[in-house]
Amino acid sequence: MTKKLPRLVIVMPCYNEAEILPSTADRMEKLLEDMVKAGLTSADSRVCLVDDGSKDQTGEVIKKICGKKKYFTVLTLSRNFGQQAAMLAGLFNNEADLYVTIDADLQDDPEVIKEMVARAEKGCDIVYGVRDNRDSDSFFKKYTALGFYKLMRLLGIKTVYNHSEFRLMSRRVVEALRQFPERNLFVRAMVPLVGFKSSEVYYRRLPRIAGETKYSLGKMLALAWDGVSSFSIVPLRLVTFTGFAMCLLSLLFLGLMFYWWAVGKTVHGWFSLVTIITVFSGVQLVSLGVIGEYVAKIFIEVKRRPLYIVDEQKTRQI
Ligand code: UDP
Ligand code: MG
Repeated sequence: MTKKLPRLVIVMPCYNEAEILPSTADRMEKLLEDMVKAGLTSADSRVCLVDDGSKDQTGEVIKKICGKKKYFTVLTLSRNFGQQAAMLAGLFNNEADLYVTIDADLQDDPEVIKEMVARAEKGCDIVYGVRDNRDSDSFFKKYTALGFYKLMRLLGIKTVYNHSEFRLMSRRVVEALRQFPERNLFVRAMVPLVGFKSSEVYYRRLPRIAGETKYSLGKMLALAWDGVSSFSIVPLRLVTFTGFAMCLLSLLFLGLMFYWWAVGKTVHGWFSLVTIITVFSGVQLVSLGVIGEYVAKIFIEVKRRPLYIVDEQKTRQI
């Protein structure tokens, strides 16, 4: 009896990647061909290029790729929703046994997908791609990223160290992800919450071969804050602890004041008073700010706006 081969769908979010996509497509076509020949995946496996509202020629380039090459499909979003939403759009709009998400710039070594599929065959539902070094990242990116992983761990958020969005998931993991109703997305912390058997494969991260990073400092910080605030209430707790600490401090001041009054040494300075008022106002405002951030999240979540909108017309045209 011949075993049924798994259908693999590789989801690739693309935002302004016209420059890089032709060479990416060549490599992915060769990879899928190899895998099909080697009997790792079924012949109807695909790469799904998700056009995340690109403003350059990405749409046309994808159209050409899909017309010329065998293994490619497209999903066009109605505007730019961000990498996280684009990834989920690709996952939720394709039927497959195994799913892999990978960036369009192929900084993550696609050859590793073979090992990921082999692990899935052995019973792993999730295979995380983990970078074994960050030599190709800039000094700034390297240390901010490493600091971020450490902070996540400190805050009790379960993520895989040095893993970003390159991973394999089985169908049941993707089905489970559908049950996560949140709008503030940070997929790499959602996946470990699903559970099931997982493992890690290591690879060397390469520099981008063309184009520029689509993550500005602002986008990076926004994603980092989403990661922290969607998965941890520690910042809110810190506010409470700071409040308690300040109450204790004020009791101490009160004691001191009475003591000075009793020994007839009342301090007539306004300087200390002003200092205390400013310190306390600062703490209060920061605390309110943190609470406000969480209230804002609740506001966004309760509206339950769609995570992404597919442009059906453009998607069908190809
Ligand atoms: N991306 C996307 N939408 C966005 C920003 C990025 O789909 O709004 C895609 C991008 O095309 C790439 C992946 O997300 O395939 C990762 O982006 P990039 O390589 O610029 O990030 P970096 O590797 O610099 O962190
Ligand atoms: Mg990249």
